[in-house]
Amino acid sequence: MTTSPKPQSITLLGATGSIGASTLDLIRLHSGSYRLFAVSGFSNVQKLLDICQEFNPVFAVIGDAYFEEFKSKINALKLSTQILKVSDGLDFIARHDKADTVVCAIVGGAGLSSTLSAVQAGKKVLLANKEALVMAGDLVIKTAKETGATILPIDSEHNAIFQCLPKALQDDNTLMYQENFGIKKLWLTASGGAFLHKSYDQMRTASVAQAVNHPNWSMGAKITVDSNTMMNKGLELIEACHLFGVGVDDVGVVIHPQSVVHSMVEYVDGSFLAQCGTPDMKTPIGYALAYPNRIKSGVKPLNLFEMSALEFIKPDEQKFACLALAKQAMKLGNGACIILNGANEVAVEAFLKGKIKLTDIASIVENCLNVDELTNELTKSFENLADILDLDKRVRKIAQLMIYHI
Ligand code: NAD
Ligand code: MG
Repeated sequence: MTTSPKPQSITLLGATGSIGASTLDLIRLHSGSYRLFAVSGFSNVQKLLDICQEFNPVFAVIGDAYFEEFKSKINALKLSTQILKVSDGLDFIARHDKADTVVCAIVGGAGLSSTLSAVQAGKKVLLANKEALVMAGDLVIKTAKETGATILPIDSEHNAIFQCLPKALQDDNTLMYQENFGIKKLWLTASGGAFLHKSYDQMRTASVAQAVNHPNWSMGAKITVDSNTMMNKGLELIEACHLFGVGVDDVGVVIHPQSVVHSMVEYVDGSFLAQCGTPDMKTPIGYALAYPNRIKSGVKPLNLFEMSALEFIKPDEQKFACLALAKQAMKLGNGACIILNGANEVAVEAFLKGKIKLTDIASIVENCLNVDELTNELTKSFENLADILDLDKRVRKIAQLMIYHI
């Protein structure tokens, strides 16, 4: 069944990334139901060009430094796609009148402003960019309530929880604490990453190649490193608190190395509702694209008869200190979450460039949360984007200095 006779018009932010590629696969598969209206990339000119050639979107946004090169290639191919720079184009395509749905799949804080623009414009927002909620969860959710924007999580865990909730709670997270829904706890599953069964010392000496490798999921470099430090689960815990309107202690984290159970909702009657499947992002993206209907996603079904035993393990928060730091930040407040996220982004980038060790990431985040200059910010709530970005900028400078002195 298709969702509607008129194709849904889609702005795909982060089209050249891993989530972008899965979204494009779904649009290809259901070309009668979805039309690519606008796309964004950053530095991969050839990939964005290929996407424009295949889908002929009305707008394409590219990193400012790559604009001239991209423009001459678009012109040489005589494509009608209009091109814009990231600096002013992202917000423009995110809130454009002709876009029904905005897929937010830019990595990191760079995706916050455009995510907020889509929410301000009341769009159907398919949210992959978890960093936006970590930095500005209160602002994004409050804005969505004001504008009527629908935020559908495509992060697999949050999508799984969303699928296991009653319809009324899918529509309004402020009802979560009403006893008639009988929800006891939300459970996020985590793969445990590539170092689950390795020692702290092996983690400390891990090469970049080892840390950009993930046992179950194929993803971009930053989220793969985050998965291997378990900061990803920490960010997801904060994301879950905002999306579902709950506190840190209402969300449990359990390591499930097979990544078959994508997350669970525990009810007071003893039921645990879980969403299971092959680990492939096309399932949650397809679910959100077609919501409240279902479409084929092209994902290989689980073969129940070939499945190995499913394990559930308690995370070691000493080895995976990032998870404990994220919980601490969420308890402290909005400012602490901005600090956690900014410090982590800078540290992950430094690790990927070979400047620091994998285990230094947690130390840098912890030091940024404890640095005197930022103490007053920890418990602050931020009500506008400019103030959030201002603190983010300060944190990044401090984290850079720490890396320089390592
Ligand atoms: P990726 O690195 O593969 O792609 C990132 C995208 O962001 C690219 O299109 C890139 O051009 C764009 N980008 C990077 N820097 C930018 C900048 N400064 N300005 C504008 N655009 C920029 O990342 P990904 O794995 O697709 O992840 C994207 C987001 O989705 C992340 O927030 C991640 O946490 C989340 N997510 C990803 C997965 C997954 O399976 N890959 C799963 C769940 C959530
Ligand atoms: Mg996830």
